[in-house]
Amino acid sequence: MAVAVVVLGLLALRVTSCAPTPAPTPRPIPVAPVPPPPPPQPLPPAKAASVCAVGPADAARANAGSLDTLVWAPFGRTEIGWSSYVPLIARELRTTCAPQTPGFAAALAAWQGVQRLPADGTMNPSVFGRLKGVIQTRRPFVQLSAQRVCPNPPADGALAAATPAEGYAGKAILLRPGALAAYRRMAAAARADDPRIAADPRNLTIFSGYRSPASDAARCVSESNCNGLVRATCSAHRTGLAMDVYVGQAPGFGPDSSADANRRFMSGTPTYRWLVANADRFGFVPYPFEPWHWEWTGEPP
Ligand SMILES: [Zn+2]
Repeated sequence: MAVAVVVLGLLALRVTSCAPTPAPTPRPIPVAPVPPPPPPQPLPPAKAASVCAVGPADAARANAGSLDTLVWAPFGRTEIGWSSYVPLIARELRTTCAPQTPGFAAALAAWQGVQRLPADGTMNPSVFGRLKGVIQTRRPFVQLSAQRVCPNPPADGALAAATPAEGYAGKAILLRPGALAAYRRMAAAARADDPRIAADPRNLTIFSGYRSPASDAARCVSESNCNGLVRATCSAHRTGLAMDVYVGQAPGFGPDSSADANRRFMSGTPTYRWLVANADRFGFVPYPFEPWHWEWTGEPP
């Protein structure tokens, strides 16, 4: 009897000493998520040369033949060859094979299949047109332009100044603070990743950032440098999100010369290649025609 009383007592103690169950906390009302920018597509590890030897040989021959001879105007001005665009194309195709190889043609054919294009592995203006569309549509500024919207420039007080060391030859540069912070993270990562980029202090310095609509119009008149009517009427540089950075220059050319020879040279520099492979991790997207022009997508234009 005494044992039973003790057991019951212990049970009662156990039950009554239990902590009360906390009242359920109300669930917060979910906020509609903002659609993230397209996820970066990391490049696959470099393929063995034998992989690049496998693919449609006739397409590879055609690509090798057109690489430096194709006469076309993908951005409105006649140019020759498509080698300037190879880093961007290869990244889109997720191949590390050289453009003359069967492996590159195979990667192009696979991409064409996904895009529901004839999957022959041959680069031509129409195939590039689709690639260009995919790449350009990642620029929010281009999406607005397609809707005939020209974004208002930010207020002057909403811009931040780069340091003299960040400006090309000490040039004064203004950008939106978020874009400048992202640029700093990106430039530091590039220099840490590749000693060839760090070796030349000009690399990734900014030679153009925010440009007010008024200064762009004046520049258009004074330099006859209008890029058609686009720069005079609505340039991406008015957003404070676009920047032109030094990626190298061919002998005899400046860092913003769009001459074919200069853009071909730029497409092979370590700085440009690093940007193509990594800039999206920092929120930057390219303008394919100008290897130096990058836009930050972390805020709407
Ligand atoms: Zn630019």
